[in-house]
Amino acid sequence: MRNIRLLWQIFPSYVIIIMAVLFGVGWHLTGAIEEFFLRQTAADLEARARLVTPQVAAALEAEDFAGLDRLCKGFGAAADARFTVVLPSGAVVGDSVEDPARMENHASRVEVAAGLAGRVAHSTRYSRTLQQDMMYVAVPVASDARIVGTVRSARALTAIDSALETLYRQVPIGGLVALVLAALVSFWVSRRISRPLEAMRHGAVRFAQGRFDRKLTVAGSMEVCALARAMNLMAEQLDDRIRTIMEQRNEQQAVLASMVEGVLALDMEERVLHFNRAAVELLHIDPVEVQGQRIQEVARKADLQRFVARTLASPDPVEGEIVLRDGRERYLQAHGTVLRDGEQQDIGVLIVLHDVTRLRRLENIRRDFVANVSHELKTPITAIKASAETLIDGAMTPPGDARGFLDIIAKQAERLNAIIDDLLALSRIEQGGDVNGMVMELQPLEPSLRSAVWSCEMAAADKEIQLQVACAEGLQARINAPLLEQAIINLVDNAIKYSEPRSSVQIEAEPARDAVLIRVRDSGCGIAQEHLPRLFERFYRVDKARSRRQGGTGLGLAIVKHIIQTHGGSVTVESEPGRGSVFIIQLPGACN
Ligand code: ADP
Repeated sequence: MRNIRLLWQIFPSYVIIIMAVLFGVGWHLTGAIEEFFLRQTAADLEARARLVTPQVAAALEAEDFAGLDRLCKGFGAAADARFTVVLPSGAVVGDSVEDPARMENHASRVEVAAGLAGRVAHSTRYSRTLQQDMMYVAVPVASDARIVGTVRSARALTAIDSALETLYRQVPIGGLVALVLAALVSFWVSRRISRPLEAMRHGAVRFAQGRFDRKLTVAGSMEVCALARAMNLMAEQLDDRIRTIMEQRNEQQAVLASMVEGVLALDMEERVLHFNRAAVELLHIDPVEVQGQRIQEVARKADLQRFVARTLASPDPVEGEIVLRDGRERYLQAHGTVLRDGEQQDIGVLIVLHDVTRLRRLENIRRDFVANVSHELKTPITAIKASAETLIDGAMTPPGDARGFLDIIAKQAERLNAIIDDLLALSRIEQGGDVNGMVMELQPLEPSLRSAVWSCEMAAADKEIQLQVACAEGLQARINAPLLEQAIINLVDNAIKYSEPRSSVQIEAEPARDAVLIRVRDSGCGIAQEHLPRLFERFYRVDKARSRRQGGTGLGLAIVKHIIQTHGGSVTVESEPGRGSVFIIQLPGACN
């Protein structure tokens, strides 16, 4: 069914009802008025006829028909009616209009017949004599209880007709006016009913759009007011609930977004329902495309897909490790649980991913470190043990040999001592930096650089290597001087160790944006690219044999790294095999 506006439903029905009422009332009223007029006229005619009856009776008694006719003509003129006297035979003996002699027998006329029969009767019909509609009323004329004739009075209905015609004309006009007025009123009433409903409809649309700022106006009929009040209450509650839901959702999103763990919710078809920022970053997925997509399509990671399938198949929480091999290797620890709705129906799975790459790397470093320490300590100990055993087994006798073995023991013991010293230094720096905090003071850099260089002079002189210091004037930094000196000594010492004799090593210090840079530059053997990322690890050495020959422990750069880190700075290296190396220390600027 087509929807029609309420106004157009109410208004036409009002108009139809009004029209039907007007038509019915008009119809009934005009009929009643016409009947009233006719009855009035009939009564009037009867009264007039009765009025003249005594005189007519006297004239009939006297059989004075000529006098009777004159009498009729006189009555007719005086009473504005036509009078006709008819004998029981039907013969007309007097008439106010016509000559009775020329008039036909009237016995057959309905009213005349009734009058002659002693009854009063009336009749309405067309008079051929007068050529118009007439009303006739005949009353009997009696003399000595004998009917001697009848007096018939008549009047033309033209007056009634014209009166009725006016009525017929005025009733529709009046009706029309009433109809228009009624229609206007009904239109107004319809509008009054439909307008608040219309306003309410607009309000409901506003509420549906989530705009609860404007309330509905409570005005109009009782029912409309009650409805408006109920809708306002509903809007208030809806607003409250939506606000609560939004707050909860925002809180949940904030919690999810600030999680370090990647969170991924999938439905039973493995389509992505929810995800957080960490998941986007861990899996390298596009946050715009991922929503509603199958996980296989957005993250092509075999391990992850296997894990999702395993979680979907298991009713219990699942744990596993996912290795991602896009670019660099990354290890993710994954926890998977089946998601259930309020009715405990499975609706998908929740996967939580934790990046354990750093942990794995640290574990590896720790493992390597233990292995390296053991290995590093084992080598001198083995040498010492072998030399001691040889001595015990009798090598003491040729004093020359014995001396050789004792030299080995002394050298290896010294090496052990160096390794242990370095390890202790490292752990001291770590503890100092982490727990107690080093005492850092803003002071000039040049003295520290010069003092470090002075410590290396001997080694440099052995290889005839020139040490050149260039420090920007008045350059200051917040440092712990002995520690920084130690770091510079390690770097310069390495530069001397890995440079050809008669070359030079430059130590430069200069200010940079928000930082102070110290460079230790040599033109020695250089380091291949693949070693650079691991160079600062403990015991990492490019050429183990050469390092050991040089008396290195493999801890020098690790110490440098830790010292600089305690200063809040960083150390990097740029190197090319055969062209030398530059170690760059970056310290926070003096203002920091
Ligand atoms: P080491 O005691 O063996 O010198 P370091 O930690 O000081 O240990 O250095 C680690 C490794 O880095 C060295 O074994 C060496 O191979 C390399 N290296 C350090 N400095 C230089 C340099 N200036 N030129 C070339 N190689 C270097």
